[in-house]
Amino acid sequence: MSTVTTPPSEFQELVPARMLNEYAYCPRLCYMEWVQGEFVHSADTLDGRLQHRRVDRDSGSLPDPDSTSDDEPETLHARSVLLSDDDLGAIARIDLVEADGHTVTPVDYKRGTVPNIPGNVYEPERVQLCLQGLLLRAHGYRCDEGVIYFVGSKRRVTVAFDDELVTRTRSLLHETRVMADRGGIPAPLEDSPKCPRCSLVGICLPDEVTFLRGGRHIVKPDDVRRMVTVRDDALPMYVITQGAVVGKSGDTLTVRQKGETIATARLLDVSSLSIFGNAQVTAQATRELLDRGIPICHFTYGGWLKGTTVGMTHKNVELRMAQFRAAADRTLSLAIAQEMVTAKIRNCRVLLRRNHPDAPAAALNELDRLAQSVEAADSLQTLLGIEGAAARVYFAHFGDLLRSGPAAFDFRTRNRRPPKDPVNAVLSFLYSMLMRQIMVSSMSVGFDPHLGFYHQPKYGRPALALDLAEEFRPIVADSVALGVFNNGELKERDFLQRNEAVSLTTEGRRTVIRAFERRMDSTITHPLFGYSISYKRVLEMQARLLGRHLLGELKTYPAFRTR
Ligand code: SF4
Repeated sequence: MSTVTTPPSEFQELVPARMLNEYAYCPRLCYMEWVQGEFVHSADTLDGRLQHRRVDRDSGSLPDPDSTSDDEPETLHARSVLLSDDDLGAIARIDLVEADGHTVTPVDYKRGTVPNIPGNVYEPERVQLCLQGLLLRAHGYRCDEGVIYFVGSKRRVTVAFDDELVTRTRSLLHETRVMADRGGIPAPLEDSPKCPRCSLVGICLPDEVTFLRGGRHIVKPDDVRRMVTVRDDALPMYVITQGAVVGKSGDTLTVRQKGETIATARLLDVSSLSIFGNAQVTAQATRELLDRGIPICHFTYGGWLKGTTVGMTHKNVELRMAQFRAAADRTLSLAIAQEMVTAKIRNCRVLLRRNHPDAPAAALNELDRLAQSVEAADSLQTLLGIEGAAARVYFAHFGDLLRSGPAAFDFRTRNRRPPKDPVNAVLSFLYSMLMRQIMVSSMSVGFDPHLGFYHQPKYGRPALALDLAEEFRPIVADSVALGVFNNGELKERDFLQRNEAVSLTTEGRRTVIRAFERRMDSTITHPLFGYSISYKRVLEMQARLLGRHLLGELKTYPAFRTR
């Protein structure tokens, strides 16, 4: 029997048999799951987990491989058996081991039905099973074959551990280890039928990355398959009632005030929880939210984002290391900031052009000129100057985009801290909403939201979230502000004036939150990939594309520019 010898490795981790399965399916999938710690539940993985429930409980035991006693019972079943071997460099939790005397057979449970292919078992499942067999052999058992039990078909399929399969299994095990040792994410599969069924397709972005890198088969937007979901099923939950208490009852979040339940939401349907002012979250609800990776965002009553509560930090250390390296590299930081500022100025220009009753040619030309001048900026300071000049041109005409309403809703100039008129109060509130959404997206991708490339990490501000927000301020926040005023959704009674500061009332805030969430949920045609996608998904995708750039897969950061 020929074998591939695994060389001594500095990578001390044992290869889990499940990761060998992933590697055989797609090396990039294995890398993202094993090295970068990425994981998302899809309908497939949840279904698989349910079907594994019974076998995941330890029970029974294996016979002693060294026993010479004739008293061994003829057959034994041991469930959820954990085995590892340093020489083999592998570890596996085997669903079920059947023993007949000293001969053992690993049984692996798979959801779904028996595939109609020669041998009835795909290679990833065959090598995973064979590795389990090799681990049993390493522990002194005789193991010549294994069984895949297909839950959907209720059928057992036997896989013989012949020389060819053993050689292939050892070879893939070696390759998996080399990939992890070497580091660097493998390229996506190109135009592969495996991708649409892959649980990490929304993280991997195979066609999008291949298109931006200039693939052989994916050369135009029409070639990019939309495999990410158009929009999220889960929605953010906002609690703005003062004195409310968010608790947990079974799989449901409850909001109570003075002993009365005023709202409920299934945890499955909640993507984040935002608390405004003095509402409380019980310890039980907090733990459950953290376990499920649902962040809690804390705002002041006035809508100022004070911080977020999240579970254990995302495991993608590789991404954070790349982020820190890039942030320390002035050239790289400037290049990323240039893309963001160009996109922001261009998106401001589009908003003016589309919404102005008499598009001001001089302002549009000036914004065009400023966007072009970004390329020549040789420092972040120069870039700040260009952005400031563009903001002055843009906001000088922003008031013209508001249809005539109460005089109190006139807009003359952008002001903040505190906002001095209703339009500025709404803009400030919406920028906070946008920041919350981008904080959540960037943390879910694995970034440290406090270290950016354009905004500097001073004063504890979330610099990366501020960076990523730039390109979306006009097309998300400003656009929602125009909508709520121009559609008459906000009235003068929705604002409070205290000294020179103007703020939204609770009801006004509700109106703006509803409008913001409508915008997040609305779909657009993606300007690069040509498919329909919600703004909320776009925000997350931009954070992922930034990650792909930082990890060297994309030459530049493709900032979001609307048409
Ligand atoms: S989406 Fe495709 S390329 Fe990406 S990890 Fe999955 S199978 Fe591999």
